[in-house]
Amino acid sequence: MASDCLFCKIIQGEIPATIIYKDAEIIAFKDIDPQAPQHLLIVPRKHIRNVLDLTTADNSLIGNIYQVAGKLAHDLGFAEDGFRIVNNCNDAGGQTVWHLHFHLLGGRDMTWPPG
Ligand code: 5GP
Ligand code: ZN
Repeated sequence: MASDCLFCKIIQGEIPATIIYKDAEIIAFKDIDPQAPQHLLIVPRKHIRNVLDLTTADNSLIGNIYQVAGKLAHDLGFAEDGFRIVNNCNDAGGQTVWHLHFHLLGGRDMTWPPG
């Protein structure tokens, strides 16, 4: 828990969010500014700044996040059509919240290259 972190506050229930999934180490909630018909943020409960701070101790956590992403895509009905998982890292990568999170985007055709 980082006291000045928005996502830690959502995890603690101090700031409201539409939570779609939670387990012992992960929560997923709706992005406040959706970039697709379905846009969730999948977030470890543990405060990790971004992928640059991951250690081997986090390997199973990251594996679980991807497994949950696939399960949510399936449950939300866009797995077969296709979807995107995005992680923005540091300023040039577009990171604006400094707690590791993975965007799960679905419900429309995605373009490539990304912006
Ligand atoms: P980033 O830009 O760091 O990759 O993604 C941060 C995401 O957090 C953005 O898509 C932004 O819309 C979302 N976000 C920012 N503030 C809030 C909030 O208070 N609640 C929710 N649910 N999402 C937020
Ligand atoms: Zn945090």
